Amino acid sequence: MRHALRMTHGFMTHEVKTTSVIIMNMKSETTVHQITQFRDVFGDKLQVGVMMSRFTSARVGGLADMFLTVESALELQTAVSLAYTLSVPYFILGGGSNILVSDAGVRGLIIMNKAKTVKYRHSGAHVVCTAESGMNLSSLARQCIAKGLGGLEWAIGVPGTVGGAVVGNSGAHGGDMNSNLLAATIWEPGQGARVYSNEELQYAYRDSTLKREQGQPVPRRVVLTAELKLTPEPVEVLMARADGFTAKRKQTQPAGASVGSMFKNPENYYAGYLIESAGLKGFRVGGAKISEKHANFFVNDEEATADDIRALFAEAWNSVRERFGIEMDLEVELVGDWEFEE
Ligand SMILES: Cc1cc2nc3c(=O)[nH]c(=O)nc-3n(C[C@H](O)[C@H](O)[C@H](O)COP(=O)(O)OP(=O)(O)OC[C@H]3O[C@@H](n4cnc5c(N)ncnc54)[C@H](O)[C@@H]3O)c2cc1C
Repeated sequence: MRHALRMTHGFMTHEVKTTSVIIMNMKSETTVHQITQFRDVFGDKLQVGVMMSRFTSARVGGLADMFLTVESALELQTAVSLAYTLSVPYFILGGGSNILVSDAGVRGLIIMNKAKTVKYRHSGAHVVCTAESGMNLSSLARQCIAKGLGGLEWAIGVPGTVGGAVVGNSGAHGGDMNSNLLAATIWEPGQGARVYSNEELQYAYRDSTLKREQGQPVPRRVVLTAELKLTPEPVEVLMARADGFTAKRKQTQPAGASVGSMFKNPENYYAGYLIESAGLKGFRVGGAKISEKHANFFVNDEEATADDIRALFAEAWNSVRERFGIEMDLEVELVGDWEFEE
């Protein structure tokens, strides 16, 4: 434990500095005036002081000042426009499966996206599915399979929403968002909504122009809907493929609360292999441990705090750097008020 915490101090000094800057710029006093303005539009849907651990896959995270659930792309756009106009810092929460929220919580407004309408239209040999960004990605993949539409099977079992996947270029089993996405309607701060082509999103491995906004002290763009290209295929073929992917996932990934892969795979390596080779499988800090099954999964199995998980990933990062000279990048985003010692 003490060893892990000592290592934490050396962890990614550059990112530490960036994080502190964001916190300073984003810190706001939530005022009665702001709450009243949101209540005027959204009524009791606007909640005050909500524990984020209820809404994150790692089951950690402290209080959000304000918390609003939206149920359509229009509501999402209205909420984020209002926040922007009132200069309230906002954060779009999808499935909470690629973020680590601090124990100190989040200042400003969390907008939980439950906009789920999905439409299909034929376009030549293909079918285009337009999904609101709060649609659960894995459920959408199942819906497509049931309709005999192929292309999204890789997404079976990937937690989270369409919006989160568009931002992070989520992928698995050789597929990813980049290979499906034709276009996305995106709200831009101060500008309104416009359609982005796939090329404009500048996709790379678990990366996009939207993902690169994380860590910058500016209001972010928001994905409202996504258009995905699908190809008709027999349902049995699609189901067999999806079953294969599900079996592989069960075989290789641990169950339980986590954020999935903690680090991106460095070029030519698997992060899990590096962490395992550093001897850290099973290493524990407080209520969190590095999975015995897959070393890039950090599991909250005993009521961990976000700080426990932070200490664990700092240990992994530092050990891998010491042993292999490789500095891994976090795949997850750190959200809220984090304090790092330098
Ligand atoms: C057990 C487990 C397995 C996983 N397996 C995989 C896998 O195989 N492949 C993979 O790629 N990932 C995997 N992940 C990670 C995660 O599921 C994906 O990154 C997912 O796409 C995140 O979506 P989300 O809705 O949960 O995003 P969140 O975690 O809620 O948010 C992530 C980021 O996206 C932003 N965001 C979300 N919605 C919007 C929107 N509408 N507009 C603008 N910004 C938005 C958030 O503000 C935040 O910055 C796994 C996670 C877990 C817990």
